[in-house]
Amino acid sequence: MRKKSKLSDVKMFVVSAPSGAGKTTLCQKLSEIVPNLKHSISYTTRPPRKREINNIHYTFVSKKKFKAMIQRGEFVEWAVVHGNLYGTSKRRLEELAKNGCDIVLDIDTSGAAQIRSKFKDAVYIFILPPSLEVLRERLRGRMTESDEEIKRRINRAKEEIADYRNYNYVIINNEFKKALRELESIIIAERLRTDKRR
Ligand code: 5GP
Repeated sequence: MRKKSKLSDVKMFVVSAPSGAGKTTLCQKLSEIVPNLKHSISYTTRPPRKREINNIHYTFVSKKKFKAMIQRGEFVEWAVVHGNLYGTSKRRLEELAKNGCDIVLDIDTSGAAQIRSKFKDAVYIFILPPSLEVLRERLRGRMTESDEEIKRRINRAKEEIADYRNYNYVIINNEFKKALRELESIIIAERLRTDKRR
Protein backbone atom coordinates (compact mmCIF):
# COMPACT_ATOMS: atom_id res chain seq x y z
CA MET A 1 0.00 0.00 0.00
CA ARG A 2 1.31 3.41 -0.97
CA LYS A 3 1.65 6.33 1.41
CA LYS A 4 -1.54 8.29 2.15
CA SER A 5 -1.99 11.09 -0.33
CA LYS A 6 -3.82 14.30 -1.02
CA LEU A 7 -5.84 14.72 -4.17
CA SER A 8 -2.98 16.64 -5.75
CA ASP A 9 -0.63 13.67 -5.18
CA VAL A 10 -2.55 11.08 -7.18
CA LYS A 11 -3.15 10.77 -10.90
CA MET A 12 -6.54 11.48 -12.28
CA PHE A 13 -7.61 9.84 -15.55
CA VAL A 14 -10.60 11.50 -17.17
CA VAL A 15 -12.34 9.25 -19.68
CA SER A 16 -15.07 10.58 -21.95
CA ALA A 17 -16.98 8.99 -24.79
CA PRO A 18 -20.38 9.18 -26.38
CA SER A 19 -22.96 7.01 -24.67
CA GLY A 20 -22.75 3.46 -26.12
CA ALA A 21 -19.04 3.63 -26.99
CA GLY A 22 -18.36 1.03 -24.30
CA LYS A 23 -16.63 3.39 -21.88
CA THR A 24 -18.36 2.31 -18.68
CA THR A 25 -17.53 -1.39 -19.17
CA LEU A 26 -13.96 -0.48 -20.15
CA CYS A 27 -13.49 1.71 -17.06
CA GLN A 28 -14.93 -0.93 -14.73
CA LYS A 29 -12.71 -3.64 -16.17
CA LEU A 30 -9.73 -1.30 -16.08
CA SER A 31 -10.00 -0.70 -12.34
CA GLU A 32 -10.27 -4.46 -11.79
CA ILE A 33 -7.02 -5.22 -13.62
CA VAL A 34 -4.84 -2.23 -12.71
CA PRO A 35 -3.68 -2.11 -9.07
CA ASN A 36 -4.30 1.06 -7.06
CA LEU A 37 -6.70 2.47 -9.58
CA LYS A 38 -10.29 3.16 -8.57
CA HIS A 39 -13.35 4.32 -10.41
CA SER A 40 -15.06 7.31 -8.82
CA ILE A 41 -18.76 6.58 -8.29
CA SER A 42 -20.81 9.51 -9.54
CA TYR A 43 -24.07 10.84 -8.20
CA THR A 44 -26.98 10.98 -10.63
CA THR A 45 -30.67 11.81 -10.76
CA ARG A 46 -31.15 9.28 -13.58
CA PRO A 47 -33.29 6.30 -12.55
CA PRO A 48 -31.29 3.06 -12.25
CA ARG A 49 -31.31 0.71 -15.23
CA LYS A 50 -31.90 -3.02 -14.84
CA ARG A 51 -28.92 -4.62 -13.09
CA GLU A 52 -27.54 -1.28 -11.86
CA ILE A 53 -26.79 -1.25 -8.15
CA ASN A 54 -26.90 1.82 -5.94
CA ASN A 55 -23.45 2.92 -4.75
CA ILE A 56 -21.74 0.56 -7.19
CA HIS A 57 -22.64 1.89 -10.62
CA TYR A 58 -23.89 5.26 -9.38
CA THR A 59 -25.33 6.77 -6.26
CA PHE A 60 -28.91 7.42 -7.32
CA VAL A 61 -30.42 10.51 -5.71
CA SER A 62 -33.42 12.81 -6.14
CA LYS A 63 -33.12 16.15 -7.96
CA LYS A 64 -33.78 17.87 -4.64
CA LYS A 65 -30.86 16.14 -2.95
CA PHE A 66 -28.58 16.72 -5.96
CA LYS A 67 -29.41 20.44 -6.03
CA ALA A 68 -28.74 20.72 -2.29
CA MET A 69 -25.33 19.12 -2.89
CA ILE A 70 -24.61 21.70 -5.63
CA GLN A 71 -25.56 24.48 -3.20
CA ARG A 72 -23.18 23.09 -0.58
CA GLY A 73 -20.36 22.97 -3.16
CA GLU A 74 -19.95 19.20 -2.82
CA PHE A 75 -19.16 18.54 -6.50
CA VAL A 76 -15.83 19.12 -8.25
CA GLU A 77 -17.86 19.07 -11.44
CA TRP A 78 -21.44 18.42 -12.42
CA ALA A 79 -23.42 18.51 -15.63
CA VAL A 80 -26.81 17.92 -17.20
CA VAL A 81 -26.46 14.92 -19.50
CA HIS A 82 -29.41 13.63 -21.53
CA GLY A 83 -31.75 15.59 -19.26
CA ASN A 84 -30.39 14.15 -15.98
CA LEU A 85 -27.90 15.54 -13.48
CA TYR A 86 -24.55 13.83 -12.94
CA GLY A 87 -21.76 14.90 -10.61
CA THR A 88 -18.42 13.94 -9.10
CA SER A 89 -18.19 14.24 -5.34
CA LYS A 90 -15.11 16.02 -4.00
CA ARG A 91 -15.23 14.01 -0.78
CA ARG A 92 -15.21 10.71 -2.70
CA LEU A 93 -12.16 11.77 -4.70
CA GLU A 94 -10.36 12.79 -1.50
CA GLU A 95 -11.16 9.42 0.10
CA LEU A 96 -9.75 7.52 -2.88
CA ALA A 97 -6.63 9.70 -2.82
CA LYS A 98 -6.23 9.15 0.93
CA ASN A 99 -6.01 5.42 0.21
CA GLY A 100 -3.23 6.11 -2.30
CA CYS A 101 -5.37 5.28 -5.32
CA ASP A 102 -5.18 6.88 -8.71
CA ILE A 103 -8.63 7.76 -9.97
CA VAL A 104 -10.65 7.14 -13.13
CA LEU A 105 -13.45 9.59 -13.86
CA ASP A 106 -15.99 8.38 -16.41
CA ILE A 107 -17.63 11.71 -17.22
CA ASP A 108 -19.02 13.65 -20.17
CA THR A 109 -17.13 16.30 -22.13
CA SER A 110 -18.57 19.26 -20.22
CA GLY A 111 -17.57 17.64 -16.91
CA ALA A 112 -14.10 17.03 -18.35
CA ALA A 113 -13.85 20.72 -19.27
CA GLN A 114 -14.61 21.65 -15.63
CA ILE A 115 -11.94 19.24 -14.38
CA ARG A 116 -9.49 20.72 -16.90
CA SER A 117 -9.91 24.15 -15.34
CA LYS A 118 -9.31 22.82 -11.80
CA PHE A 119 -6.76 20.00 -12.10
CA LYS A 120 -4.00 20.92 -14.53
CA ASP A 121 -2.25 17.54 -14.41
CA ALA A 122 -5.08 15.15 -15.11
CA VAL A 123 -4.78 12.84 -18.11
CA TYR A 124 -7.60 13.00 -20.66
CA ILE A 125 -8.66 9.97 -22.69
CA PHE A 126 -11.39 9.92 -25.32
CA ILE A 127 -13.05 6.68 -26.44
CA LEU A 128 -14.53 6.65 -29.91
CA PRO A 129 -16.97 4.11 -31.30
CA PRO A 130 -15.92 2.68 -34.69
CA SER A 131 -18.76 4.67 -36.34
CA LEU A 132 -22.06 6.38 -35.54
CA GLU A 133 -23.85 3.41 -37.12
CA VAL A 134 -22.14 0.99 -34.71
CA LEU A 135 -23.02 3.34 -31.85
CA ARG A 136 -26.69 3.33 -32.88
CA GLU A 137 -26.67 -0.48 -33.07
CA ARG A 138 -25.07 -0.79 -29.61
CA LEU A 139 -27.63 1.55 -28.08
CA ARG A 140 -30.44 -0.45 -29.71
CA GLY A 141 -28.85 -3.74 -28.65
CA ARG A 142 -28.70 -2.93 -24.96
CA MET A 143 -32.45 -2.21 -25.02
CA THR A 144 -32.32 0.21 -22.12
CA GLU A 145 -33.30 3.36 -24.03
CA SER A 146 -36.39 4.25 -26.06
CA ASP A 147 -36.08 5.22 -29.76
CA GLU A 148 -36.49 8.85 -28.76
CA GLU A 149 -33.70 8.54 -26.18
CA ILE A 150 -31.43 6.80 -28.71
CA LYS A 151 -31.95 9.68 -31.15
CA ARG A 152 -31.08 12.16 -28.41
CA ARG A 153 -27.93 10.22 -27.48
CA ILE A 154 -26.79 10.02 -31.14
CA ASN A 155 -27.19 13.80 -31.55
CA ARG A 156 -25.29 14.38 -28.35
CA ALA A 157 -22.60 11.92 -29.54
CA LYS A 158 -21.98 14.06 -32.63
CA GLU A 159 -21.37 17.10 -30.40
CA GLU A 160 -19.14 15.15 -28.01
CA ILE A 161 -17.02 13.57 -30.74
CA ALA A 162 -16.20 17.07 -32.02
CA ASP A 163 -14.42 17.65 -28.69
CA TYR A 164 -11.95 14.75 -28.91
CA ARG A 165 -8.96 16.95 -29.80
CA ASN A 166 -9.01 18.41 -26.29
CA TYR A 167 -7.97 14.99 -24.96
CA ASN A 168 -4.42 13.63 -24.64
CA TYR A 169 -5.27 10.19 -26.00
CA VAL A 170 -7.90 8.69 -28.26
CA ILE A 171 -8.90 5.03 -28.36
CA ILE A 172 -11.21 3.50 -30.96
CA ASN A 173 -13.29 0.81 -29.32
CA ASN A 174 -13.50 -1.60 -32.21
CA GLU A 175 -12.59 -4.63 -30.21
CA PHE A 176 -13.03 -4.66 -26.44
CA LYS A 177 -9.83 -6.52 -25.50
CA LYS A 178 -7.66 -4.30 -27.70
CA ALA A 179 -9.27 -1.12 -26.36
CA LEU A 180 -8.76 -2.35 -22.79
CA ARG A 181 -5.10 -3.13 -23.48
CA GLU A 182 -4.62 0.35 -24.95
CA LEU A 183 -6.29 1.97 -21.97
CA GLU A 184 -4.14 -0.04 -19.56
CA SER A 185 -1.01 0.94 -21.53
CA ILE A 186 -1.84 4.62 -21.10
CA ILE A 187 -2.17 4.20 -17.32
CA ILE A 188 1.11 2.28 -17.12
CA ALA A 189 2.99 4.79 -19.30
CA GLU A 190 1.62 7.80 -17.41
CA ARG A 191 2.71 6.27 -14.11
CA LEU A 192 6.22 5.81 -15.50
CA ARG A 193 6.69 9.44 -16.59
CA THR A 194 9.72 11.14 -15.10
CA ASP A 195 8.05 14.54 -14.92
CA LYS A 196 4.91 13.01 -13.31
CA ARG A 197 3.06 16.06 -14.70
CA ARG A 198 2.62 17.39 -11.20
P1 5GP B 1 -25.21 6.89 -18.48
O1 5GP B 1 -26.53 7.48 -18.07
O2 5GP B 1 -25.31 6.27 -19.86
O3 5GP B 1 -24.62 6.00 -17.45
O4 5GP B 1 -24.17 8.11 -18.63
C1 5GP B 1 -24.47 9.17 -19.47
C2 5GP B 1 -23.28 10.09 -19.54
O5 5GP B 1 -23.06 10.74 -18.28
C3 5GP B 1 -21.97 9.41 -19.90
O6 5GP B 1 -21.33 10.19 -20.90
C4 5GP B 1 -21.18 9.47 -18.61
O7 5GP B 1 -19.80 9.54 -18.83
C5 5GP B 1 -21.68 10.76 -18.02
N1 5GP B 1 -21.42 10.84 -16.59
C6 5GP B 1 -21.45 9.85 -15.67
N2 5GP B 1 -21.13 10.30 -14.46
C7 5GP B 1 -20.84 11.62 -14.62
C8 5GP B 1 -20.40 12.65 -13.72
O8 5GP B 1 -20.20 12.46 -12.52
N3 5GP B 1 -20.22 13.87 -14.27
C9 5GP B 1 -20.41 14.14 -15.58
N4 5GP B 1 -20.17 15.38 -16.01
N5 5GP B 1 -20.82 13.20 -16.45
C10 5GP B 1 -21.03 11.96 -15.97
